[in-house]
Amino acid sequence: MSIARVEPLTTARALRGPFDYRLPERLGEVGVGSVLLVPFGRRRVIGVVVEVAESSELPPERLVEPIEALAAGATPELVELGLWVAREYCSTPARGLELVLPPSVGRGGRGTGPRLQTLAAPTEAGRAALGDGTRLGKRQRAALKRLAGPAVGAELSARQLEADGGIDRQTLGRLEARGLIRLRDARSFRRPEVVDVGARSSRPPLSDDQRAAVDAIVAAMDGAASREHLLHGVTGSGKTEVYLAATEVALRRGRGAIVLVPEIGLTPQAISRFAARFGDRVALLHSRLAAGERRDEWERLQAGEARVCVGPRSAAFAPVRDLGLVVIDEEHDASYKQEGDPRYDAREVARRRAAEAGAALVAGSATPRPETWLGLQRLRLPRRVDGGVLPHVEVVDGRHDINARGGLGRRGAAGGTLHPRTVEALAEVREAGAKAIVLLNRRGWSPFLCCRSCGRAWECPHCDVALVLHKLSERLLCHHCGHAESVPDSCSACGSVTLARHGAGTERLATLLDQAVAPLPVFRLDSDTASRGGAHIEILRRFEEAPSGVLVGTQMVAKGHDFPDVVLSVVLDADATLRFPDFRAEERTFALVAQLAGRSGRGERGGRVLVQTLAPQARAIRHAAAHDAEGFLAGELERRRALRYPPFSHLVRIELTSPDAGRAQAVAESVRKALEGGLPAGTELLGPAPRFRLRGRHRRQLLLKAEHRAGTVAAVRDTVEGLATGRELRGVSISVDVDPQ
Ligand code: ADP
Ligand code: ZN
Ligand code: ZN
Repeated sequence: MSIARVEPLTTARALRGPFDYRLPERLGEVGVGSVLLVPFGRRRVIGVVVEVAESSELPPERLVEPIEALAAGATPELVELGLWVAREYCSTPARGLELVLPPSVGRGGRGTGPRLQTLAAPTEAGRAALGDGTRLGKRQRAALKRLAGPAVGAELSARQLEADGGIDRQTLGRLEARGLIRLRDARSFRRPEVVDVGARSSRPPLSDDQRAAVDAIVAAMDGAASREHLLHGVTGSGKTEVYLAATEVALRRGRGAIVLVPEIGLTPQAISRFAARFGDRVALLHSRLAAGERRDEWERLQAGEARVCVGPRSAAFAPVRDLGLVVIDEEHDASYKQEGDPRYDAREVARRRAAEAGAALVAGSATPRPETWLGLQRLRLPRRVDGGVLPHVEVVDGRHDINARGGLGRRGAAGGTLHPRTVEALAEVREAGAKAIVLLNRRGWSPFLCCRSCGRAWECPHCDVALVLHKLSERLLCHHCGHAESVPDSCSACGSVTLARHGAGTERLATLLDQAVAPLPVFRLDSDTASRGGAHIEILRRFEEAPSGVLVGTQMVAKGHDFPDVVLSVVLDADATLRFPDFRAEERTFALVAQLAGRSGRGERGGRVLVQTLAPQARAIRHAAAHDAEGFLAGELERRRALRYPPFSHLVRIELTSPDAGRAQAVAESVRKALEGGLPAGTELLGPAPRFRLRGRHRRQLLLKAEHRAGTVAAVRDTVEGLATGRELRGVSISVDVDPQ
């Protein structure tokens, strides 16, 4: 007797699978990864087979049969990976498995099978028939001529023949019956459109540094001792070319590759370089694809027709066969961590996947994370490919400006003013008719509004944060929950009509710059102007095509683009990210400033960078200005070791939220009690600490600093699952974040 152990795709934490079902012959081939429709109590649910066994512990009379088999689902390796994610990130098996299933099954829908199309090609007799006097009807002759037109061996689809040649199926059927053409059914795939941005498909000869990097990666692919590499190279040092060359070797070895790129990095530039080099062997998986396109790209990988997958974090689960190489481009990027359940880190998933498959792993960045710096074998690309030098970075002390009131616009409590040096540099760009990028990591017109008479500040009714004024849309917005209200004319507390708009965001800055650099055009890039999918690509394209202009925006402007004619980059309020109460604040600030610096001076005209800040002496800013990633990392690792932060410990964050502050606190305390005693030695438990109210929910946080990751995660998982089955949680939700960012 065959037994299928099935994990139902329901997300209730209390329901612990897998459950046994008897497998009847009529279902045909069912194995690990198969998707089944099974009876479950009185319901029918979709489930995934996680194991096939010979016997069950259940008595035979309690074993029931699945209703039907729905799809082949995922390979056993991917099922294993999905379950690993569920365990590692304290989620449920169902949530983990959804990540590895075909897009059509993952959300609980039913698979709809591939679309078929009929392809036609002439036989040799058919080609000959056109010239040897074989009697052919008018329609048949026309059809044969059309089919014999393309290169030998090429096929045309029946649908296409009908649409543009008026050749009907009947005619094709007759020709086939006479042995003059061959018809076959093939799967038809919808391919996403790749915008051609003129990427070269030719390979430049690699530099010595690039060659050495590729050799090390290929050795890793072939089983060398060191399988995981960090490719540390400044922007423009040719990292992408290394990924392309290594991918080419993988393909020659008959193996596949996964190339992870940051969400925002999915620009035509990045995609089209892979598409130009590898054509249809590349599949793209990202959220902007239509559902059908995504499913088809997935199936091309599953079928082995495509061997390389390029995509954001979810591509770590792509069904690439015979994996030989996994690339994590811009490995420092925050988008690799998933925000919702399961809160997985795609970089860790990629490492696990590569290790299981015996594939080489390469994480590339100009500003690697301390974790990666310490954990992976380093490869360096110390120079820019074109021999270009890194731009000179000048740190401008914004504190001088506060009393001087110089520059454009008014000083504001939260910065955003232009220093006279910055104004001067922009004027030079205007005179030269060149291009500049200005980064201010804060959107909107002004970050808060308050009454000049009584001091009332406008806050979100659902969250403990200030509302941000958006002038063009005439709204006060909460950037956390989306709450919107109209802009008041007067203070609701005292009636005063003098309301102060403090500070500046990108919207206001764009208006200031419009005046400062006119007649040069100003392009604003932030999530307000680029909310539609793909809109940011359009804004970047317009900036690229303009002969001159200024691109202003949030951190979106600092990522991954390559504009040779940018001569000036400016970061305003560079220390804003330093003020976040987060142990990664320094790392983030360093990366942001260094990445933006890398955007400048790629072309022949060279370039410069201005960093305007209230904290010119901050370590992150000094090292970024000196292009000194190594120096920064050395200091940062020292600090982390002293404070026992990652990579010298593992963090697990537990968050309790409730509309009722008292309940959140009470449950947080009982979670703490339940955990105490059950934790492995060397685990520190901090909290409960309050966090600001969000979406009407009060929040409490517990933080664990663990020496032993697995033991701590297991203890947290057991505690959380124990609570989920009991009554204690009433009205309180609990979420666990392993390796919080
Ligand atoms: P990175 O990914 O480190 O920013 P890229 O791989 O995008 O760098 O390289 C920057 C530019 O230099 C690209 O236009 C690329 O085509 C070109 N390039 C890379 N390697 C070479 C090389 N060995 N010879 C000539 N041009 C190269
Ligand atoms: Zn007032
Ligand atoms: Zn809010």
